[in-house]
Amino acid sequence: MNRPRAALPSLPMDPLDGFRDECGIFGIADSEDAANIAYLGLYALQHRGQESAGIATLDGETVRVEREMGYVADVFDEARLSRLPGRTAIGHVRYSTAGASLLANAQPIVFATGRGPLALAHNGNLVNARDIRRELEASGALFTTTSDSEVILHLVARSKAPDVGSALAEALLEVRGAYSILVLARDGIYAARDPNGIRPLSLGVREGAPVVASETCAFDLIGARFERDVDPGEIVRLSREGFSSRRFAFSRSTPCIFEHVYFSRPDSRVFGKSVAASREAFGARLAREQPAEADVVVPVPDSGLYAALGYSRESGIPFALGLVRNHYVGRTFIEPKQAIRHFGVKVKLNPVREVVDDKRIVLVDDSIVRGTTSQKIVRMLRESGAREIHVRVSSPPTVASCHYGIDTPTRRELIASNQSVEEIREFIGADSLGYLSAEGMYEAFGRPAQATCAACFTGVYPVEIPEEELEKEGAVAR
Ligand code: AMP
Repeated sequence: MNRPRAALPSLPMDPLDGFRDECGIFGIADSEDAANIAYLGLYALQHRGQESAGIATLDGETVRVEREMGYVADVFDEARLSRLPGRTAIGHVRYSTAGASLLANAQPIVFATGRGPLALAHNGNLVNARDIRRELEASGALFTTTSDSEVILHLVARSKAPDVGSALAEALLEVRGAYSILVLARDGIYAARDPNGIRPLSLGVREGAPVVASETCAFDLIGARFERDVDPGEIVRLSREGFSSRRFAFSRSTPCIFEHVYFSRPDSRVFGKSVAASREAFGARLAREQPAEADVVVPVPDSGLYAALGYSRESGIPFALGLVRNHYVGRTFIEPKQAIRHFGVKVKLNPVREVVDDKRIVLVDDSIVRGTTSQKIVRMLRESGAREIHVRVSSPPTVASCHYGIDTPTRRELIASNQSVEEIREFIGADSLGYLSAEGMYEAFGRPAQATCAACFTGVYPVEIPEEELEKEGAVAR
């Protein structure tokens, strides 16, 4: 079942409301079939954004782009890919919330500049884009999207620096926030990560051609070998000559722990670690911190699978697949309307009566956001005969919004921002509820708090968020 293409709403009043983007990016330089390989790369990154997909290629001196709302497989067919000749390509998948669900915001964004055409693909969110945009508009710049990413191209286009690499380095010193970006230029692909390295970005090689992707699962699909991550504060150019690197800023690495908790694919290595292994470690630690008397450990598929395995191994309680997921539905959380989201949980998950009937269950999920998913699952399990349901969450309570590129609701919609664990337990209807502690999470992840972005769990933002952005979500500093 394909998700229907999103209707294109009119331009939102707020010229920059894209702070909830989730994205995946991919690039390949100097290769046969660059567009086809980018298509495959994006296919592997589809979980990072399901709303629009796009590929830009460099064909001689010209940059061509094809973008559309929809899944990668729906946006691209052979005919469309054949309109993307050239040996160098970048691609992008994107999800954003309703206001900014515009085709105009689909990436790559392409600009004609004095340095030739440039295309940009961005994963993350810039926290000072609004200010920069205001200044640029005051001096005559015309913006074509409502996305924060566009300011980077304006800054590159305006820079007096002698080449694209230096202009990009200059531009990146102006912007703040989370960004893993790819810029396609006539001399190759520039791949960069913000000085905090909040979003992932990895380099690889496929049949001698340099490749870059948000996650290593894209390399597996295209048969590329992982080389290394782009470092925080580094720009790497991918070209016929391979990789060349420059630093544009001092780094203070604080990678996003939520990539490991939920967002990245478990078969990826992200920030130098296996995502599956992190999730198992979170689950094992959770079992020690929050034990339960139960007959089976049941994961919420797919996001709770590895944590449940870890919980089961550590506790000795047997693992059982008590919920089946229908894989042909989009991620419930990602449905734009509340009504559809509620419906979505039922469409997506169904209990296996034979597994859960008359059982005391430890139900493991990676996170509780609004609480509605857990509430519905608990209800479904009871209706299928479960005797007791002990919900265990393999991360701490989600108390704050992400301003760095993960879709989260505003703070006041996060159930844990204004309710105690006991109140949440009552709301979801569980017999008991236990979360992983923050210390447990850092330890299982193998990085201390100050070397991690865990803002969604702590409210501590490693890159300062302007007051104006916090006010928009009713979370002005307390
Ligand atoms: P909720 O019903 O709002 O409590 O949603 C909780 C569910 O959403 C859990 O099963 C999580 O795995 C999942 N989830 C958490 N964060 C996200 C996200 N950014 N995008 C999509 N799903 C998410």
